[in-house]
Amino acid sequence: MTRLPGGNEGGVIVLSNFISNRQCSIVWPFFDPFDTHWLRPDILAFQRLADHCHAKRLMNRGSVLTWFEHEAEADASRNLQPCPPTLRLGLEEDEEERPGLPFTYRKPLICHDGTQPRIEWQGRPLAFADMTVALIAHYEMKPRMIDFAIDHERELYKFGRILATGTTGHEVLAATGRKMEKKMVRYHSGPKGGDIEIATAILYDQCHVVIFFVDPLNPHPHIEDVRVVFQSCMFKDQVVMITNEMHAREFMSRVVRGKEALTLYS
Ligand code: PGA
Repeated sequence: MTRLPGGNEGGVIVLSNFISNRQCSIVWPFFDPFDTHWLRPDILAFQRLADHCHAKRLMNRGSVLTWFEHEAEADASRNLQPCPPTLRLGLEEDEEERPGLPFTYRKPLICHDGTQPRIEWQGRPLAFADMTVALIAHYEMKPRMIDFAIDHERELYKFGRILATGTTGHEVLAATGRKMEKKMVRYHSGPKGGDIEIATAILYDQCHVVIFFVDPLNPHPHIEDVRVVFQSCMFKDQVVMITNEMHAREFMSRVVRGKEALTLYS
């Protein structure tokens, strides 16, 4: 048995990562049909990715029992993924197993009179060379991301590592200098699990700045995966979230240009 982090600590996101990397192909998600918890972005994204990756999702007792009786034996030889599955973030020193890492979940403190106490934020300076930035752009926003990356190549290059979803990474690399290639980790394309992989890197403190050019005018079939990226950023308070081009350009010119470090707050 490999125990993943709890649901409120990103466990479903980690499971989705296993699914999109074909390390898990049968799941039994048992949800309460009258509760809304299973409408959470991470759980919706998990269900969509399971179908995209042809994982069997057996969501009630009847499906599980039928599967046991007629399919389990055949599936035992069909599913030859290594067990326990290994979470790979694609970063050099990160090739080991990770699901057991403790997460720190800060529950809000409520005073007896109902007011919330002042939270003292702790600042920690981190050199850009030790930081990771993630780049994601929706299809219609790719030209904006490419312009942004060309204009801010020097600032982007200051970061120790650049994570990107598949197509965004490919296009940014094609448009910028070759030296960028050494720093970049390219995940799957966003709708095919790349957003979830970036969300997982965020959960494991492997990503400090997220630059996501969201297309606000068009529907996206993987909208829940997009929300999971933001869900992870909200879970990890110190991450800097940037969701549009103007903010990204200002961040680069005001916060990164001419500086060596950034104070991250948590
Ligand atoms: P892409 O994914 O870079 O592979 O296009 C981005 C997304 O749509 O989430």
